[in-house]
Amino acid sequence: MYNIYEGYNNFTKELLEEAQKSILWTASRPQVVMAKGEGMYLWDTEGKKYLDFIGGWAVTALGHCPECIRTAIVKQASTLINASPAFYNVEMIEFANLLVINSCFDRVFFINSGAEANEGAVKLARKYGSKVLNGAYKIITTQKSFHGRTLAMMAATGKEAWKNIYEPKAGGFVHVPFNDFESLVSAVDDKTCAIMLEPIQGEGGVNEAELTYVKKVFDFCKEKKILLIFDEVQTGLGRTGKLFAYEHYGIEPDVMTLAKGIGGGYPLAALLAKEYLNIFEAGDQGGSYSSQPLSMAVGMAVVKEILDKQLWEHAAEMEKYIKEKLHSIENKYKLMNIRGKGLLLGFDLQGKYAAQLVDECLKDGLIINSPAPSTIRLMPPLIVDKSHVDEMFDKLEVALWRTIK
Ligand SMILES: *Cc1c(COP(=O)(O)O)cnc(C)c1O
Repeated sequence: MYNIYEGYNNFTKELLEEAQKSILWTASRPQVVMAKGEGMYLWDTEGKKYLDFIGGWAVTALGHCPECIRTAIVKQASTLINASPAFYNVEMIEFANLLVINSCFDRVFFINSGAEANEGAVKLARKYGSKVLNGAYKIITTQKSFHGRTLAMMAATGKEAWKNIYEPKAGGFVHVPFNDFESLVSAVDDKTCAIMLEPIQGEGGVNEAELTYVKKVFDFCKEKKILLIFDEVQTGLGRTGKLFAYEHYGIEPDVMTLAKGIGGGYPLAALLAKEYLNIFEAGDQGGSYSSQPLSMAVGMAVVKEILDKQLWEHAAEMEKYIKEKLHSIENKYKLMNIRGKGLLLGFDLQGKYAAQLVDECLKDGLIINSPAPSTIRLMPPLIVDKSHVDEMFDKLEVALWRTIK
C-alpha cells in the first residue's frame, strides 16, 4: 500500500502526469498533491508537511479533519443521509433553530455553496421587489466584491477580470465603489430592491467596510425600504472576531448568507432572513441537496463547537498577536496597510511580488494567499494558536528575505 509518510517511488510524478491528462484545466496549481490533513497542517503525497494559513480557503474553520466532524459524519451516515428535500428532517429543524437563536435572523434556507446561497438572496430580494416595491429588481453591489461563480453571481461580483467574459451577463446588477456612500445613493433608483455587501471584501484583498459607511447604508436602506444583504460567506461564524461580522456595525441586515466556515470543509451554505421575508411561494426556491441530514449534522457540529469554545474571541486575540508581529517586522520588509479583523488579515508588499512570496513560502511548507499582485491574505483556521503563529512568522521571514532582498 501507499504510505503517507514514505510515498511511492514516482507516485507523485505519476499522479501529476495523470492530472495533466484528466483534470479539466481551470487554474495553475503548484506541483504538489495533497493527501492528508490534521488540525493546522496538510501533508502531500511526498510526506511533506505544510502549515495551513489559508484554512482550505477560509473553509476549515476548525482545522483539518476535526474530531467533531468525523464523528458527525459517521453517526449521521449510518442514520439518514438524504430523505429528500420534500420532507422535513430532524437535523434541519435543530440546525435552523441553532442559527436563529444565535443571530438576528428568523428563517433559514440551507443549500450547498456560497454562490447558491447568494443566488437565493437575490431571488428573495427580487421576490420582495415584486411584492413590495412595484417590481423593483436591481441589486447594487460594490467594485472588487466577490459573490461566487454561477453566471448570476459572476454578474453580481465586482471583479475587473470578469467584466467581459461569458456574455451576455445576467442583468440587473449595478456596481459602485466600495466605502463610497454618495456613489451608492446616486446609483439607487425606483427599480432598486437591494444592496449586497461583504463586511470585509475577502477575495478583493481584505478591504474593510467602514463603520460610518455601513451605518449610513443601513439607514438609507430602511428609509427607502430597500433590503440590505450581507454576504458573510467568508466573514461569518467567528472569522472576524465576532460570531457574525454585522455585529461590528451595530446593525441588523435583512438577509445574510453563510458558507465556507459553516461546514468546516464539508459543502454547506445557508441563507438567513428576517421574518418579514418569509415570502417565497411553493416552487420558487429549492434544491435536491437542500437541508440534507448529513450536511446538517456536520454544520451543527461545527457551529456548536464554535459556540461552545467562543472561537470568535480566540480569533480576536490571535488578530492582536498576528498584527503585533506584523508591525514588528513592517519596517524591515517594507510591509504596508496591515489590516483586517479577527483571522481575516491582509497586508501589502512594496511591489508586485506577492505571488512569488506565496511560492517561496510553499517551498518552506507554509501556505498563505495572495488575492492581489502586492497583497498577502492570512485566513487560518480559528483554532490557530500562538505556536502556529510563531512558526508561520519564522517561515514567512525567511521567504520575505529571499523574495525581497
Ligand atoms: C467564497 C465566497 C463566495 C462563494 O462561495 P462558494 O461556496 O465558493 O460558492 C461568495 N461570497 C464570498 C464573500 C466568498 O468569499
